[in-house]
Amino acid sequence: MKTPPTFAHKIRHTLALLLAMAGINSFAAEPTVPISLSPDVLRTVEALRAAALADNNGYAVVEDLVTQVGPRLAGSEAEARARDWAVSMLRSQGFAKVRAETFPMAAWQPGSQSARVVGHNAQALSIAALGGSPSTVAGGIEAPVLRLASMAELNALEANLAAGKIIFIDEPMARTGDGSGYGAAVGKRRACAPAAKRKGALACLIRAVGTNTDRFTHQGMGAAGDATTLVPSAALAPPDADILARLVKQALTPVVVHLDIDASTNAQAQSGNVLAEVIGRSAPEQIVLAAAHLDSWTLGHGAVDDGAGIAIITAAARLINELPIKPRRSIRILLAGAEEQGGIGGTAYGKAHGQEQHVIAAESDGGAGKIWRMRTRVAVSALPYSQALQRALAPLAINAGDNLLNKDGGGTDIDAITEQGAAIIALNQDMSRYFDVHHTANDVLAEVDLNALRQNIAAWAIALYLAAEMEWQPQP
Ligand SMILES: [Zn+2]
Repeated sequence: MKTPPTFAHKIRHTLALLLAMAGINSFAAEPTVPISLSPDVLRTVEALRAAALADNNGYAVVEDLVTQVGPRLAGSEAEARARDWAVSMLRSQGFAKVRAETFPMAAWQPGSQSARVVGHNAQALSIAALGGSPSTVAGGIEAPVLRLASMAELNALEANLAAGKIIFIDEPMARTGDGSGYGAAVGKRRACAPAAKRKGALACLIRAVGTNTDRFTHQGMGAAGDATTLVPSAALAPPDADILARLVKQALTPVVVHLDIDASTNAQAQSGNVLAEVIGRSAPEQIVLAAAHLDSWTLGHGAVDDGAGIAIITAAARLINELPIKPRRSIRILLAGAEEQGGIGGTAYGKAHGQEQHVIAAESDGGAGKIWRMRTRVAVSALPYSQALQRALAPLAINAGDNLLNKDGGGTDIDAITEQGAAIIALNQDMSRYFDVHHTANDVLAEVDLNALRQNIAAWAIALYLAAEMEWQPQP
C-alpha cells in the first residue's frame, strides 16, 4: 500500500467515526428488506469457501514469484520479468484474455547509500534512501544533525536554524489493526525533503515509517522533484533512530553525521499492467475488478507487499473460473505496475479502460493478515445485496463494516475506476503486524501464513463470485 490519507480524508473518517459512535451507521440507518440468495448460489458459496480453505495454489503463486523474480522495482528489468512471469502464470491458471499493457514512466532507482555518526561516538547507521531522493555530492555530505519531533516543528522553524544542517524528523508510528498508524506517520516521508530544501538544510533523515524494532529500515516513496527542489533523504531503522536521538539529547556539541546517497532517475523507463479475465456467462461486458500490484521495493522480496495480494486474487478468481457455471458478469484481474512510485499503473489502467463498464472494484494490498471486516461504497438500493454478501462472509469471522468509504477509499490501483463511479468492496486485513515488514528486508515468504492466506482467498472468492452473480446494481 502507498496512499497516505489526505486531510479531507481524515475529516471524513472522523465524521464517520462520530456517526458510528452515535449509532448512526449507513447500514442501520436504511430500512432494508433482506434478499435471499438462491439455493444454487448458496451451494456455490459453500463450495468456494471449502475449496479456498484447502487451497495451495495461492501460496504456490507467491512462492514462485519471490523465487523466480524476487524484488521488482517499478520500471526496472526485474519488473519487466515479473510482467512476463505474470502473463505465463495467469495463462497457466486458465484465465482468458491474459495480456500485458505497458506504459512509460520516470523510474527512480537507488544505488549505494550509507550513513554514520562521525567523531567521538562514531558508528554506522542503517538507512534506506527514500524514493525520489537525489544523490548527495560525490563522497557524501557531513553536517550537524537537528532533531525535530514532527514535520510541524520543521515547518515552524526559522530558516537560519535549519541552514546547513541534516534535519532528523524523529516521529514514531503507532501500531494499529486497521493500518491507520501508517496514514498518520507517513506524511514526513513526502514532506521532509522539500521543506528542508526550502529552509536551506542539506539533507533529511526520518525515523522509518514502521512498527518494527529490528535494524531493518523501510523504503518508500518520498517527494517527486530533483536536486533543485529536494534535499537527499533517507529513512533510519528504528533502533538507529533511537541511537541518534539519544546522542543528540546527551551531546554538548552538535552530533555530526556523514551521509552518502547515490540514486538516479531513468526518465525513459517502461512499466506495465497485466490483465486476465473470467468471462461472465450473460453480461460479460460488465466488469468486477480485482486488483493487486506487481512491483515492489528492493530490500525485501515483495512477498507480503504485494505478492500476497497477487496470490489472493489469482487463487480466488481461479476457483470461480473453474465453477461448472460461470457468474453472470466478468471478473477482471489487474496486476498493476509501478504502484509504489505513485500509482502509475492504476492511472494508466484508468486511461486505457475507464470507458468500460466497471460495476465494482476491490484491491488486495494490505499484506497477508486475516480479513476481519468488510466495508463498502455501494448504492443505498444495493445495501440488501451487500448484506447478503456480508452474511456469506460471516463464517470466516469477517465483521460487517460501514458503507461510508470515499470514492478513493478502495486503494491506489483502483482509484481511477472508483473515482468514475464504480462501487467498492474493501476486505480489510489485520494490519497490526504488517508494518513490521512492509517495505523492509523482512518482506519475505516466511511472513505469509498459509492459513491466513487461505482465509483471504475464501473471502475474495465469495465476494468476487457474489459481486459478479447477484442481480444488483451496486454503483452509488
Ligand atoms: Zn503495496
